[in-house]
Amino acid sequence: MKTSTPKAFASSAFRIVPLPTAIAEKARRVAESGAEDHAVVKVDSATGYPCRHCLRWAQPGESVILFSYASIPPGHPYSETGPIFVHAEPCQRYSAIDEYPADFHNGRVFRAYDANYNIINAEVVNGNDPKAVIEKMLQNPKTEFVDARSVTHGCFTFRIVRA
Ligand SMILES: [Zn+2]
Repeated sequence: MKTSTPKAFASSAFRIVPLPTAIAEKARRVAESGAEDHAVVKVDSATGYPCRHCLRWAQPGESVILFSYASIPPGHPYSETGPIFVHAEPCQRYSAIDEYPADFHNGRVFRAYDANYNIINAEVVNGNDPKAVIEKMLQNPKTEFVDARSVTHGCFTFRIVRA
């Protein structure tokens, strides 16, 4: 059980939403079955393979599963299904949900969506304070959630919602 002080929970206006554990576990089972659309990849770079479940860079020597994930569900103009990684071995879901994940201060683009999954704003985070960008996007009452993606590859990394 995670124990957090009330002070820590009062510190941010947002909550990080990592990939649900059930989806990571299913990807591991499907990869184990040899499915062609779930690739097991040996990590060869310290900052090339972000695990969407623990929200850390997988490290050389580890393996990840590469599979397709619908971050924005089908049936909308901005529907989006694309490749993501999770650790091949079980990992702990990111739990410091009121803190911005330390591994992703650079190279992300934030996209703000409304309640109908339309993109209403987008901003690159690369050296500037990601929390300030998130808080600014959440100040717009139309913002339902913000998705962080790779600025180079475009892949979904994690979701951010209001606290
Ligand atoms: Zn992981």
